[in-house]
Amino acid sequence: MYSIRILLLAIIIITFAGIHCKSSKSQGNTSTVSITVSSNFDSGSIDTLWESQPGFLTGWPKHRKQKSSSDDQYYWFYFKLDHTAHKNITIKLDRLAGTYRGGPHLIYTKSTRPVYSYDQKNWQRISDVQYDPEQHSLTFRNTFTSDSVWIAYAHPFSYSQGSAMIDAMAGSPFLTIETLGTTQQARNINLLTVTDTAIPDDKKKVVFITTLQHAGEYCGGYVVEGLLTFLLSDDENAAIARKTTVYKIIPMMNPDGIFHGITRFNGNLEDLNQEWDDDYTDTLHLPVEPEVACVKKWLREWKSSGKNIDLGLDIHSQGQQGSMNLLHTPEGMLADLTPHFNKYWPVKYVPMEFSGSLNDCLAKEFHIPSGTFEIPQSRIKNEAYLTIDDYYTYGKGIALGITDYFRR
Ligand SMILES: [Zn+2]
Repeated sequence: MYSIRILLLAIIIITFAGIHCKSSKSQGNTSTVSITVSSNFDSGSIDTLWESQPGFLTGWPKHRKQKSSSDDQYYWFYFKLDHTAHKNITIKLDRLAGTYRGGPHLIYTKSTRPVYSYDQKNWQRISDVQYDPEQHSLTFRNTFTSDSVWIAYAHPFSYSQGSAMIDAMAGSPFLTIETLGTTQQARNINLLTVTDTAIPDDKKKVVFITTLQHAGEYCGGYVVEGLLTFLLSDDENAAIARKTTVYKIIPMMNPDGIFHGITRFNGNLEDLNQEWDDDYTDTLHLPVEPEVACVKKWLREWKSSGKNIDLGLDIHSQGQQGSMNLLHTPEGMLADLTPHFNKYWPVKYVPMEFSGSLNDCLAKEFHIPSGTFEIPQSRIKNEAYLTIDDYYTYGKGIALGITDYFRR
């Protein structure tokens, strides 16, 4: 009896040892381990994605319905893959069709090039990409050198990245930061003022610049980072800009949407850029969204205290659909502005208005000359695909162009 027990114990030990050996062997050889997918991080988003065959992942991005309409927005994706080293990986995303302002929204094209990174800082484009316009699917493949990789529709600009940018600039003598209000999820709407306080403000022009109402248009974060970095720099043209201009900048208009990687909506699933007329002409959509309400409150107080705003610019993106930087304005405003930008970066003037937009509200309710930039997340015409450095250059070019415009 005793020897039978020893024999059984020995069999159990040998069996466990065998299992253990087998599992450590498979962990040591990454090519046999399944690829895992995650998006539970700042700005991350994917609805469904799984490895249906070794090295082949299939799924689709998150579709979200707008609270006040039937619009369906879907295009932003940003996920992490693990166990990827030295594998040739193919990813096929389907369901790439939605609706915008009641019409079809097909933002993917054959020119779409997603980005990837091994550190969430340095991004490269994926070049082997096919778009199927009949099936609304995008298939892309790449061999990754690292065992973990982040992949996104375009360069992400996360909420923590935006917050770290503001913290890093906070010590500058030319910068003041105030909080205008908070979002539904208690994130701050920050207003940054850049100017040289040694010169009285009543001798300066005032420029109001905003971005990231639509989270999927993350390139706006880099444009504003480039603008702020230049304005706070030792460059002699930055000193001129600070002496002649008060810059009022909101770098993240939709922090909840940015954090959750929501393509176009805020935390309440509303498109902020259709909400700016709610308490003016479009009372059907009341109450005003918290992001809009706090900024409008500030604008009204600013104007009622007798101060002016000489120029308003809201930075957006056409995603990877666009192939030119555009400046849209209502009522043919600012027709003479783009030649000044064009000394530093290419922008085409295309008058166009959007009801309920911030641009429309600044122009019609507050009588501020204003425009909306649309900056591609792909490339300009057939030139090289845009990089983060290009967006920084655009930000600097906005400041230089504005100084020239006011000096004309
Ligand atoms: Zn937009």
